[in-house]
Amino acid sequence: MPDATLTLYNTLTRRKEAFAPIDAQSVRMYVCGPTVYDRAHIGNARPIIVFDVLFRLLRHIYGAEHVTYARNITDVDDKINARAAERFAAMPPVEAIRKLTVETAAGFHEDISTLGLLPPTLEPRATDHIAEMVALCEALVKAGHAYVAEDHVLFDVPSMPDYGRLSGRALGEMEAGARVEVEAYKRDVNDFVLWKPSKPGEPAWPSPAGIKTPGRPGWHIECSAMAGKHLGEVFDIHGGGLDLIFPHHENEIAQSRCAHGTPVMANVWMHNGFLQVEGEKMSKSLGNFITINELVSQKLFGGQQWHGKVVKLAMLGAHYRQPMDWTVARLAQAKGTLMDFARLVSGVEAADAPHPEVLGVLMDDLNTPSAMSILHGIAKSAARNTVAAGQLKASLQLLGVYEAERAEDFNVGLETREVDASKVDSLIAARNAARKAKDFKEADRLRAGLDAMGVTLKDDRDPATGAVETTWEVKR
Ligand SMILES: [Zn+2]
Repeated sequence: MPDATLTLYNTLTRRKEAFAPIDAQSVRMYVCGPTVYDRAHIGNARPIIVFDVLFRLLRHIYGAEHVTYARNITDVDDKINARAAERFAAMPPVEAIRKLTVETAAGFHEDISTLGLLPPTLEPRATDHIAEMVALCEALVKAGHAYVAEDHVLFDVPSMPDYGRLSGRALGEMEAGARVEVEAYKRDVNDFVLWKPSKPGEPAWPSPAGIKTPGRPGWHIECSAMAGKHLGEVFDIHGGGLDLIFPHHENEIAQSRCAHGTPVMANVWMHNGFLQVEGEKMSKSLGNFITINELVSQKLFGGQQWHGKVVKLAMLGAHYRQPMDWTVARLAQAKGTLMDFARLVSGVEAADAPHPEVLGVLMDDLNTPSAMSILHGIAKSAARNTVAAGQLKASLQLLGVYEAERAEDFNVGLETREVDASKVDSLIAARNAARKAKDFKEADRLRAGLDAMGVTLKDDRDPATGAVETTWEVKR
């Protein structure tokens, strides 16, 4: 174990705390995953990337076999139903929903693998856990924390005295702020749906608590059911985006704690900040809505494709709790950095452990911007010092932004620029010969030919001997 202690900011207590797992042999983390109705956008990628770094760090500290990371797939949802009806109008609704969710989940896995992220230990799907959700609904009704009304099961919010602790909202405030019309079947404006009746054509399962009409779960209950089944009634870390604190996480907590009679659902609650694109909120109408797939395989953002690890490194340039502005400049800078690092560490043997300073700042609530500046410092000595180069490589591998790539591997989308190195070398030799013979016209012609192949030349004069040495690279 490293000397430094892992500290994490806990939304529940609003402070940074030393992390102490319930069982160091079995560290357990749950992160809310995608609702599979559309390709994941770059805002969706942020929690996935942030918690991948935490997963890697936990594996480093406690051992890979002692960490369980569950990230769910939401495959039952109103947005899914609507999108399936729109895209596959001719199909029976339940088949259309299956087709949409299977295709979208496959696309999500493809996107995640291009980013070089570790797969979670478990990836439970909501529709595989209906029985657990039904059981939770029944347990909550039995315990007096939920009630049946008009074929719905509703959580009775006033039955939980400390509801609202995570978001810091008091019940009175919520009532005063509620301007929406309250459904007649709700006893209290804050009560939320655990189960609801299905309309014809919607996915439907036998309902809990004696309800005759087949129905389907509300959104929040699935995470309580899946986390409870796979990680236990109380586990270590629960994560997600800031936008999930209320109502989703607040309601997960209410369901799990009241069903299991526990003081907490998870000990540490972590939330990543919002993401904007070029200073604007991302939206379809502004035309700045960008998916992971578009970033890595199309030339829609900054006129070029970006390597998945460049995307990941760019994301780590801001601290996870801070808002992030996603810009072309940020990506371009990350690409240059990763290419520079690759030139230093490609072919070098990785050290047994990452650089202690890098590890130290990551242990301090995942301070990735500080890790980046330390990495730049190490890189300065890595050119001359193989120990530093090995530590740089091990540190990049810990972050999951580098494995064994060559610099040019990060230059994706420039396939037409692939060049034959021996041809480049012979053209450079011919150009040098022309220059020696003072045939500058011929030398310029050869240089222009190389330029058209996408090759940039750099002439360096050795100050001692005056001899010119020409190096080259394929243009970024
Ligand atoms: Zn959730």
